[in-house]
Amino acid sequence: MVDLVDMAEEFRARQMQESINARQQFGTASELDCDDCGEEIPQIRRELGGVTRCIQCQTNFEAKQKHFK
Ligand SMILES: [Zn+2]
Repeated sequence: MVDLVDMAEEFRARQMQESINARQQFGTASELDCDDCGEEIPQIRRELGGVTRCIQCQTNFEAKQKHFK
């Protein structure tokens, strides 16, 4: 039985992954823990490279950036 919440979360992560890939090159190591809240960053995100925040904090961060524009 597949958990729909997990699937939605993974889908969101993949969408974010694509937007991150468009902006930054691979080759930078990812943090194990989120810079902002210290939570462990999911493996699926760390594999992107250059990840320093968990999904939640990255979402907050990007939302704030949009506000500033
Ligand atoms: Zn976080």
